Amino acid sequence: MAARILVVDDEPGIRSGVGEILALEGYTVDTADCGRAAQELVSGTSYDVMFLDYRLPDVDGLTLFQSIRQKSPRTMTCMITAYANIETAIFATRQGIDIFLPKPFSPDDLISTVDTLLGTKKLRDEAERLRLAHEASLRQLASEQSQTHSLVASLRDGVLVVNRQGEIALANRSMEEILGIDSGKLLRTQVSSALAEGVLAPALAAFSPDSPASVVFEAEAGLKRLFVTVSGFYDETGGLLGRIVTAVDITAVRRMAVEKARFTRTLVHELRAPLTALKSIVEVMRDRSLGNDLDPYMSFLARADERIDGLGELISDLLSLSRIEHEGAVQAPAGPTKIAPAVYEAAELWKDRAAAASVTLEVDLASDLPALAVSAEDLSTILTNLVGNALKYNRPGGNVCIGGVRTSEGLEIAVRDTGIGIDPANLARIGEEFFREKRSETKGIEGNGLGLAIVKRLIDRAAGRLRITSAPGSGSEFRVIFPC
Ligand code: ADP
Repeated sequence: MAARILVVDDEPGIRSGVGEILALEGYTVDTADCGRAAQELVSGTSYDVMFLDYRLPDVDGLTLFQSIRQKSPRTMTCMITAYANIETAIFATRQGIDIFLPKPFSPDDLISTVDTLLGTKKLRDEAERLRLAHEASLRQLASEQSQTHSLVASLRDGVLVVNRQGEIALANRSMEEILGIDSGKLLRTQVSSALAEGVLAPALAAFSPDSPASVVFEAEAGLKRLFVTVSGFYDETGGLLGRIVTAVDITAVRRMAVEKARFTRTLVHELRAPLTALKSIVEVMRDRSLGNDLDPYMSFLARADERIDGLGELISDLLSLSRIEHEGAVQAPAGPTKIAPAVYEAAELWKDRAAAASVTLEVDLASDLPALAVSAEDLSTILTNLVGNALKYNRPGGNVCIGGVRTSEGLEIAVRDTGIGIDPANLARIGEEFFREKRSETKGIEGNGLGLAIVKRLIDRAAGRLRITSAPGSGSEFRVIFPC
């Protein structure tokens, strides 16, 4: 686009002469005969170059220049005057005028002045663009640095950055805690002295000149188990810039691995025991150990039947556990589920079993109980298990009561029995996978120790709590408290 030029001069000859010469050169030219007219033009148009007479009828050229420069700081200005002397020129230049053109001047003077001004403007514009870009990238860098800093500071893993000279350049709060060092004290200390004594001492192996690219080890810090990695970081040419030490808390992962191994061991036992029993029953029959008549074998077959049922139950309980674990916390909000139908359904389910065991089964629900944010299926599994246990660990003539009441803590469903009770020493383990009390009273009672583990998980995911109180010989109470 053609450069725009403004000529401000009260002499009509200059205005038209300058205007014509510049228009012939291809520039777009506007003219003004006084300060006011110039101000008006400047307020609507942005000019690349302005020619300004030193003396105007309404205002002097320098005053006009100052006010125009405020509105349009990128315009290049040439002052033209017939009264040129060196002092005026110096003074005007100090005020910010870019160039001085004394009258009279030739068309060539004028054109070369415009060329100079436009060339300078181009350079200035480019310099300004670079300055702005530089400022923006500095701002971005500063904000990235502070973001990285707060990110590292808030990490739960310990992070320690060491420069090529072995000096600590960054250590976050978690790392200070692991090393037991006060906030900020690690900075600029030598890594060799900072790590020498503590749990991360093995990391120092990575700091010798012939050390491997990375060092990995596990460390014990109080009750925590840490997974520590030391690795180098490099510039684009592969030169070592420093090393970074990270310490990740793997206590929970380790605990889970230990629990999983224990679970698998117990499961193997739970599967092997019935299979061994079944195998010996098969052997007794295969060898016709009790003769050719079938009758003596019937009790063995009934036992085999029970064992097979037990295995079936174990498999379905394992599936329930794994399903609950898989669904985890991603479960959609459940309910609302009414309590009464679920309670009466559980009572109905166990009615015959209660009668066969000579145990009375009753329901005692307060009226107007609110619905619960738990799925009907989960509530039914919880109740079926608790009522089933209350009957199973009961005695002839005993009682089971399913109660429901609203308390200050929420909605409480209690399953009370007058059965064998639980040894206080075992109370904390009730609900642990496969845990079963081994007492003379529990001898001969079948089960796999997974029912309450399932119940606990279902209660957990409904944000409820399970409280167990029991006295051996007089009975137990399982209270489930749901928020409502
Ligand atoms: P299971 O009944 O199949 O053994 P559970 O997980 O349901 O497994 O229960 C775990 C253990 O808790 C039982 O083996 C038993 O020792 C104890 N228990 C559970 N409910 C009762 C109860 N109502 N009275 C006494 N003991 C109970």
